[in-house]
Amino acid sequence: MKTLTSFLKGAWVKGHGKAAVLHNATTEEPIAEACTDGLDMAGALRWGREFGGPALRRLTFTERGLICKKLADAIVAHRDELLLLGILNAGNTRSDAKFDVDGASATFAYYAELCKSLGDARYLVDGEAIALGRSSRLSGQHVLTPKVGVAVHINAFNFPAWGLAEKAATAIAAGMPFIAKPATSTALLAHRMFEVMLGSGALPEGAAQFICGSVGDLFDHLTGQDVVAFTGSSDTAAKLRGHRRVLEKGVPVNIEADSLNLAICGPDLESGNPTYDLFLSCVVKELTQKAGQKCTAIRRIFVKEDQVDAVVADLIDRLSQHKVGAPNLDDVTIGPLSTAQQKADALAGIRKLSAEAKIVFGGPDKLELHGTDPTKGYFVMPTLLVAAEGESLHAVHEHEVFGPVATVIPYSDSDQVIALAARGEGGLVASVYSDDKTFLMDTVLGLAPYHGRICIGSEKVAGTFVPPGTVMPHLLHGGPGRAGGGTELGGTRGMMLYMQRTALQGFGPYLDGLAAGGKKL
Ligand code: NAP
Repeated sequence: MKTLTSFLKGAWVKGHGKAAVLHNATTEEPIAEACTDGLDMAGALRWGREFGGPALRRLTFTERGLICKKLADAIVAHRDELLLLGILNAGNTRSDAKFDVDGASATFAYYAELCKSLGDARYLVDGEAIALGRSSRLSGQHVLTPKVGVAVHINAFNFPAWGLAEKAATAIAAGMPFIAKPATSTALLAHRMFEVMLGSGALPEGAAQFICGSVGDLFDHLTGQDVVAFTGSSDTAAKLRGHRRVLEKGVPVNIEADSLNLAICGPDLESGNPTYDLFLSCVVKELTQKAGQKCTAIRRIFVKEDQVDAVVADLIDRLSQHKVGAPNLDDVTIGPLSTAQQKADALAGIRKLSAEAKIVFGGPDKLELHGTDPTKGYFVMPTLLVAAEGESLHAVHEHEVFGPVATVIPYSDSDQVIALAARGEGGLVASVYSDDKTFLMDTVLGLAPYHGRICIGSEKVAGTFVPPGTVMPHLLHGGPGRAGGGTELGGTRGMMLYMQRTALQGFGPYLDGLAAGGKKL
């Protein structure tokens, strides 16, 4: 069995103690183990601050972009090998593994271009000079400089490649070293990808470290110049947010957590309409891609009361065309969930939802698998539920089932659908499909305070639409409330987490000179 090591203080090291075991999601065979017991987490933080930070801060944005470019190229060069690890460990189909690995290289490539466009500056200038008196003699100016600590990146199990890359790219662009910690259960891919990143030779000493397993006592050594960027469950998020050291030292913690994402089928849509077709294909894609293990997957599908039967029939028709089974087979579109625990949680979640809504496709007790032993693997069938009405529901609005599961909920008008959407208490992404401008504007503005991103599907963009579950580096990722309140990506916006915004006030011409040395946003 392979031992997955950690990369700390410039060397690959392994812990000594009871190791966590990683499994093949399809066969349940143990494939690797990882342990961090006894590793020097305080030393790793010091190493990053002492070597990685100064090295990155010395570089211009253009030079940081070159690092991102080399990392993107290295991942592309090892693509096939990385895809196989995603299939093996996380149960991804080849297409799902591509979504993760290509997402990683594309994000590095995007930040490479963005950094190039920021040029030879090393800090950002936020807005224009502000006159603080009657003349321009006393002036104000906001600037953003890289924090001088270490960014601790803790990721969820579902995107071992992309999750690592999206946080790493923004930190490098901002000029901050990082320690990446993937979820242990699917770390095989992240571990190899990190080896590939190091092998590119692009990363200065101390700029990137890797923890494979528990973070140990790392949080006890954080300072106010360090940053934590976390993706995972609300329960773990609450623990990290409330960590004594985090509270005492004012360590910034960015949280990307659970979300009851939704799609709304506009009242004007009907069969044969391109926007309706777009709605159906987005819902089915989000339900099936990565077996529904995406933080951005659609969990609630709002449909006008009198259209529910027709929409449900069309969704069932499309879902019936999917095959669940061995993820390495070309005709299989849905692989297993990533771990035994995820499967147990998803089945329990379906049972919970079924107390409020009727299962009309799939369900917890059904298993039809292709090309694999039906007694093994963490498989869950795609499951569609339908609720009779939206107001009395609790679990459907509040419980995220992290698998191929969604519920259709009837609505009467835009006011009601907004109120029902809000019952999710803050989400990553909503999508609305309609060609009725008034309905779109009312709904989008009503949904906006509760969501980090809204995708507006209409006939005009039906041919070029990007499904809501695909996170784009150009746009912010994150959402309020239940979704954690964090923000990542979004071009330079994602870099802000790693930079300190400082208000300068002084003699106008001095500040103008200082601003001229930075890159104005
Ligand atoms: P999780 O159990 O909360 O674990 C997330 C990460 O936190 C893992 O790396 C885990 O490490 C680590 N962790 C757990 N306890 C910790 C502690 N006390 N101190 C430091 N790190 C700790 O979540 P998950 O099961 O991997 O992910 C599923 C959840 O993530 C879902 O609810 C989903 O909605 C959410 N998610 C959100 C987004 C988003 O962008 N908003 C994206 C993906 C997933 P170990 O694996 O070593 O325990």
